Amino acid sequence: MDYQSIITEIAGELEQIPKQGELAVYIPELAKVDPNKFALNIHTIEYQDYNFGDVDDRFSIQSISKVFALTKAYMIHGSDLWKRVGVEPSGNPFNSLVQLEYENGIPRNPFINAGALVIADILCDSLEHPKEDMISFVRKLSGNNSINYNIKVAESEKNMGYNNAAQINLMKSFGNINNDIEYVLDFYYHLCSIEMSVKELSKSFMLYVNHGVLMPENERLLNYSRSKRMNALMQTCGFYDEAGQFSFKVGLPGKSGVGGGIVAIYPEKYSVAVWSPLLNKKGNSFLGMKALEMLTTKTRLSIF
Ligand code: GLU
Repeated sequence: MDYQSIITEIAGELEQIPKQGELAVYIPELAKVDPNKFALNIHTIEYQDYNFGDVDDRFSIQSISKVFALTKAYMIHGSDLWKRVGVEPSGNPFNSLVQLEYENGIPRNPFINAGALVIADILCDSLEHPKEDMISFVRKLSGNNSINYNIKVAESEKNMGYNNAAQINLMKSFGNINNDIEYVLDFYYHLCSIEMSVKELSKSFMLYVNHGVLMPENERLLNYSRSKRMNALMQTCGFYDEAGQFSFKVGLPGKSGVGGGIVAIYPEKYSVAVWSPLLNKKGNSFLGMKALEMLTTKTRLSIF
């Protein structure tokens, strides 16, 4: 497969499309990002890399970090997690409070904010140094020791974090949060503020391409069943209330973030990360989604 020609062709076609969408202005630091940035990287199971655009620029991975947090919590607690968080798509915006009240403080899935806050609470219980341990874990997955939190982004989000504070308070009132609320929120905001490049993201998602075995160390982190379930959750819940559209148009499991990044995987073949900061109304990168739709159509490599 000539991935390089295909992604160069995709980039050319994307240039013809009028730019649409908005930056994630509700996090003031993210409103400062250059909206014209674009990067795409494919990493294959044969360790080949294919690149286009600003592939070495690091950006705010935001909700993509929810996949790393869930992986760590799943490694520690296994299926006990599902007592505190569900595995159904929400069909509601990622920060909706409505469903949470109806469903007695048990979030629909680990990729909406409420679910990720529960996972953060679980990690606060089980890790001695949650921030240090999680950044080491992400560094290990991506094979890069310089990956870090962006404290300014974490602070910026905390200052405007009224919705997340409401979510966690509501869950605490239902008994689904154990730790001090401020402690868990601080950890959650740090996770969202992690900065990575598309190259580092696709490399770290090779874990899910490779059924839970870290490459090239050949170290199993998730057993086959857990890895299958991670991919299922990404497929059904990874794209806000647009997971159906994403399956329909792209057809790969993955996760997006309001920093404009999207990572998706094709089991046993490749991982792809794309970054374009302007978001559509649902919070997914406008051009990122288009790029991935073109990729799976042109390569005929969607899981469907
Ligand atoms: N830090 C963001 C929030 O909590 C994450 C949003 C996202 O990327 O989905 O609102």
